[in-house]
Amino acid sequence: MESSLKLGKIRGIEIGIHYSWLLVLALVTASLALGFFPQTFPALSPLASWLLGLVAALLLFVSVLIHELSHSLVAQSMGIRVRSIVLFIFGGVSSIEGEPRTARDEILVAIAGPLASIVLGVTFGALLLGLSGVSPELSALLTYLALTNLLLAAFNLIPGFPLDGGRVFRGLAWLATGSYARATNIATILGQAVAYIFIFGGLFMAFTGAFLSGIWIAFIGWFLNSAADAARRQSRLTTAFRGVRVRDLLKEEPPVTVPASLSLRDMVDEFVLQRNVRAVPVVDGQGDVVGIISIADIKKVPRERWDTATVAEAMTPADQMLALSPDDNAGEALQAMGQRDVAQVPVIDHGHLVGLLSRASILQFLHVREELGSRA
Ligand SMILES: [Zn+2]
Repeated sequence: MESSLKLGKIRGIEIGIHYSWLLVLALVTASLALGFFPQTFPALSPLASWLLGLVAALLLFVSVLIHELSHSLVAQSMGIRVRSIVLFIFGGVSSIEGEPRTARDEILVAIAGPLASIVLGVTFGALLLGLSGVSPELSALLTYLALTNLLLAAFNLIPGFPLDGGRVFRGLAWLATGSYARATNIATILGQAVAYIFIFGGLFMAFTGAFLSGIWIAFIGWFLNSAADAARRQSRLTTAFRGVRVRDLLKEEPPVTVPASLSLRDMVDEFVLQRNVRAVPVVDGQGDVVGIISIADIKKVPRERWDTATVAEAMTPADQMLALSPDDNAGEALQAMGQRDVAQVPVIDHGHLVGLLSRASILQFLHVREELGSRA
C-alpha cells in the first residue's frame, strides 16, 4: 500500500499506517466517547469519555498490530519474507512475499493472528476481573479491549477467504485434495459466498433501520469479494506459470539497444519509426545497460528539444528501472510489470543484457498454453 505513514521497523518488517486509518481512529474515538463509555458507565464525565475513547482506540490499534505481527513472525520463522504491515480502514494487511509452501505452513500462519487476538482478549478480561473496583474508567477500558479483541478473533475466523478462517479452510482443503490450485478455488468460492452474505445482509440492515452499520457491513462484503477475486486470479497465474522461467520466453536473437549518447531525434527516426520498437535498453560505451527508454519517456521531452537532448537525459536510469534475471518466474515477472506499469523489461544475466521481455509475450505464452490445455 503506497500512501502510508511509516512508523518504524520490527524485525525488518516495516510498520505503516494508511491514511484511511486516521479516519477510523477519529470514528472509533468519537463513537466510544459518545456511545459505549457514557452508556456503559453513566458516571463518567464527557472529558473522561473522550480521553478514554482515544486511549481505547490507540490500544485497539496496538491489538490489531499484534494480530498482524503474529501472522508475520510465524511466516518469517518458516523462511517466508515479510516486507511490511500496513494498518488501514478494514484492519491490517501483512505483505507476505510468496505463498506458503505447504498446507501446514498455510494453516499455522493463518491461525497465529486470531490466536494472538484470543490471548489478548482473555488477558484483558482477566485484568478486568482482577482490577475490578480500582476505577470505573479502567473497567470500562478493559471491558472494551477484551470485547474487541475477542470480536476481532471471531470475525477473522469466519471461513471466507481471504479472512484468516478462509486461509485455514484453504489449508485444510489443500491437505484433503493435495492440490493448492483446487484448494484455492474452493476457498475463494466460499469466500465470495461469505462476501455476498455480508453485502446483502448489510443492505437489508441498511433498509430496515440500522443504516450506518448496514452500509458498513455491505462495504466490508464488497472488500472481501474483490479480495477473493484477486486471490483467485493470483492463484491461476501461479499455477499457469509454475516452473516457467523468464529465459523460456526470450527470443533467440540479441535485443536491440541504443547508445546513451544518441539524440532523441535519431532515436525516434531510426528506432521508433523504422524498427517499430516501444522500449529499448540503453547501453554505454562498454555495452553495459545504463537504463531503458520508452516512447513515454521521449514524449516527456518537448519536441523542439529532440535534436539536442540525448537518450541518457530522457531514459529511466538503471537504478530506477525494473530488471529481470533469466531465472525469475514468468508469472512473478508479469505481476511486477503490472505493479510498475511497464510493458517491457530488460533481462540481465550477470551484468549482461540477454533479452527484453514484453508483457505481450508473457500473455501470448499464457494464451497458447490455455489453448493447448483446452484441447489436451
Ligand atoms: Zn489475521
